[in-house]
Amino acid sequence: MILLKNIKELLTLESAYKKDGRHLTKDDLSLLKDVSLIHDEKKILWIGKDIPSKYSNFSKTIDCSNLVITPELVDSHTHIVFGGDRSFEYSLRIDGADYEDIAKAGGGILNTMNATNNSSKEELFKLACERVERLHSYGVGTIEIKSGYGLNFDKEYELSHIINDVKKKYSPSIQIINTYMAAHAIPKKYSNGKEYIDDVVIPLMKKLNDEGIIDVVDIFHEDGYFSYDDTEYLFKEAQALGLSVKSHADEFKDNDGAALACQYKALSTDHLLRTSDKGIQALANSDTVACLLPGTGFFLGKPQADAKKFFNAGVKVAIGSDYNPGSCHWDNLLMIASISATTYGMNMAQLWSAITLNASHALGLKNQGAIVTGLAPRFSFFNCPSIDHITYHWGRNFSISQ
Ligand SMILES: [Zn+2]
Repeated sequence: MILLKNIKELLTLESAYKKDGRHLTKDDLSLLKDVSLIHDEKKILWIGKDIPSKYSNFSKTIDCSNLVITPELVDSHTHIVFGGDRSFEYSLRIDGADYEDIAKAGGGILNTMNATNNSSKEELFKLACERVERLHSYGVGTIEIKSGYGLNFDKEYELSHIINDVKKKYSPSIQIINTYMAAHAIPKKYSNGKEYIDDVVIPLMKKLNDEGIIDVVDIFHEDGYFSYDDTEYLFKEAQALGLSVKSHADEFKDNDGAALACQYKALSTDHLLRTSDKGIQALANSDTVACLLPGTGFFLGKPQADAKKFFNAGVKVAIGSDYNPGSCHWDNLLMIASISATTYGMNMAQLWSAITLNASHALGLKNQGAIVTGLAPRFSFFNCPSIDHITYHWGRNFSISQ
């Protein structure tokens, strides 16, 4: 048993947890001051002021009188395993280049696909570890990682194994969710999405599932990528194997992606810049989390999702970093969420739930995301005067590991 003693501020999100992360008001933050907490390896056992006598013989006692403790930060959307970088593309964009200019100059996802295919397994593993450690340094303890820059059978097989190796290396202090996303783009040799899904995505998904190393299946459901029918087809195949699904949807235009994800009980559907009122209503009536990715809008200088509509409808909203080499080379989830609060019009309970409670649910992790007895003891620790300071200092890192 471990005792966290005299915690300066403990953000429990108990009220948000009871409300399933929806319709949150500022009063749902559930902040406790000067309390202690006892947990074992699996569960939070007790929270309060005076430690009951039945709890003693702690294996570790941590003085938390200078610390703010929150539910563990969760980044539920990253593309961390990639080779190369696209810094030249970012500069070109700032200098006024459009999508076509960038493609002509050798930018875009094909650039990362080539760089990834030209990198060895060892190089990609090392880069992924560096990125995971940097995210963790900001206080993020659960990280979803998507494959998807190989776009052929052998390299995608390797990428899913790299994620599995990263998972094994850091477990249990960092929890990795291995998301299979070979359906990230359609390679040039295929004339449509279905051909590629049949040739590579489904056979490889079955092989990786037999090996027991993938947790979730994701697909890029957008015009020019995978269609509504492709997405539904892959959802059915994945679910027949007992795998959970999620999607990238409604980013470029509304393609009924959110509604389709809800129909198939997806853990989350992500981006959602153009989701119709019908899609938002489907989300509100479902357990599927809407994962918004504001970093991408800031990075590309593009519009943002209409977050207020999601919040007002009672949708469970998470925020992810979307850390990737092309459209959001920004790995600091807490900074992204802090900046988004004013843009999205989020209150503090919505902001914190978006990167803890609802982000956990976006990964199917229902036993974490709040600090309530019985839930898993996954926390983030910050050495600062109060919870307000964490989001007030944009980009300053107060996180410490214990
Ligand atoms: Zn993404």
